[in-house]
Amino acid sequence: MSRAILWFRQDLRLEDNLAWNQAMTHDEVMLVYILDTVNSKDRFMGEASQLWLHHSLTALNIDCDNQLNVFQGDAQQILAKLVDHHAIDAVYWNRCYEPWRTERDAEIKQQLAKKVIVESFNGALLWEPWEVKKADGGPYKVFTPFYRKGCLNRPVRHPVSAKSLKPCFKSDLALKIVDLNLMPKFPWGDQVIASWQPGERGAKAAWDVFLSQGLAHYRQGRDLPWLKAVSRLSPHIHFGEISVNQLWYAIQSMAQDDNTDHFLSELGWREFSYSQLYYQPQMDQKNIQVKFDEFPWQNDQILLKAWQAGQTGIPIVDAGMRELWQTGYMHNRVRMIVGSFLVKNLQVDWRLGERWFWDTLFDADMASNCASWQWVAGCGADAAPYFRIFNPVLQGVKFDANGHYTRKFVPELKKLPDRYLFSPWLAPEGILTQAGIALGKDYPRPIVDLQSSREQALEAYAKIK
Ligand SMILES: Cc1cc2nc3c(=O)[nH]c(=O)nc-3n(C[C@H](O)[C@H](O)[C@H](O)COP(=O)(O)OP(=O)(O)OC[C@H]3O[C@@H](n4cnc5c(N)ncnc54)[C@H](O)[C@@H]3O)c2cc1C
Repeated sequence: MSRAILWFRQDLRLEDNLAWNQAMTHDEVMLVYILDTVNSKDRFMGEASQLWLHHSLTALNIDCDNQLNVFQGDAQQILAKLVDHHAIDAVYWNRCYEPWRTERDAEIKQQLAKKVIVESFNGALLWEPWEVKKADGGPYKVFTPFYRKGCLNRPVRHPVSAKSLKPCFKSDLALKIVDLNLMPKFPWGDQVIASWQPGERGAKAAWDVFLSQGLAHYRQGRDLPWLKAVSRLSPHIHFGEISVNQLWYAIQSMAQDDNTDHFLSELGWREFSYSQLYYQPQMDQKNIQVKFDEFPWQNDQILLKAWQAGQTGIPIVDAGMRELWQTGYMHNRVRMIVGSFLVKNLQVDWRLGERWFWDTLFDADMASNCASWQWVAGCGADAAPYFRIFNPVLQGVKFDANGHYTRKFVPELKKLPDRYLFSPWLAPEGILTQAGIALGKDYPRPIVDLQSSREQALEAYAKIK
């Protein structure tokens, strides 16, 4: 009779789960999730992620016939205790790539391997970051060669079907999911999760919707925040409720065109983010381009708070920040606009923007979030140059031409004609009155002048150039 622990981490699914399948070769299994509150330190998940995790674990537990054992504390100590207490023969998990986890997991592996079989698998990435290297052995710094030369020449593992659940045993030391205290203490949580279905079935449903409604418009439509042309799979992917291998092969099985190509390359951007994190584990703190260490960030707390609250007086920025607060998600185009506005027009350090996203995004992901913020700020690998500063008025006109998105999240501007929707401060008094808006009362005046703040940002950049 052999007994295994399957340690769930960011792979909260049964299908295409290599660690699951390996555990199911034993006679009995213990299904374990550990909320590591000790080793995660300042990278403990934000409020939105905790809320998602609560629901995702609940869904996983149902899919596992209520056999999930959850714990809280130091994963290393908890696993050591479980192995001794329950006479375990093997421990399996799928790998994670955040530096605090890789460090911890290496120690756990070393410690447990003295007593039991320990094996980890790739359940989160299409290609292992250490395998995708340039001919000289160094990491790629530019996306296109990384993806086209480094990734596409390598095979992608085919997804595997889930083996049946073996007889399970429970630990008397386990907690209930609710004891993890992942639910927010205030009512924001019920509203923000309402339009989502965390868990493997929710991921599959979101994927099916995208395949039938979004994919055919993806290439062009993915820049239009009012159109349902993107998958909204990012939280499901982050928590491993669906694997990127499943997505890759589902797309490969279709007729290939610009839309399928582009979708696969976005999965490639995710791989690129993980590659950057692997080679630069302090990427959440350190600028990839070191010249930015001297950047004279202003970090005005009042401006930062107005940005967080969606009260900057710049409509497309406020729409994005309110979408984030109300839904735990923000469309990619708008993430770029609000990010550029924060680091350039407001001259707030990108790390403060990253932290706010970390706390409020359901898909908050250390690799993608830090790489994307460094990209926006101009200090990352293959980043948008700092001097290319988005004009949020023109961005609104171009990508939300009919104003659907902005009017949805900034309803106080609903009645303003399209011509002034993205720059209400330019509207004549009569038009504002007709639309029922008193600037400074119903909707803020801009917290900065776009033109002069742009010039100041360029002056600041000139100092480090
Ligand atoms: C400032 C900023 C912060 C970001 N923070 C995160 C984050 O914390 N977590 C996160 O998953 N993405 C992040 N992104 C990347 C991107 O915005 C989201 O992945 C995307 O908007 C998710 O929506 P979707 O699932 O509908 O994407 P789709 O367009 O449907 O793309 C499918 C999947 O590809 C991946 N992907 C797409 N674009 C990117 C990208 N640029 N970089 C990395 N992966 C990508 C995601 O896993 C996504 O779910 C950030 C982007 C910016 C500009």
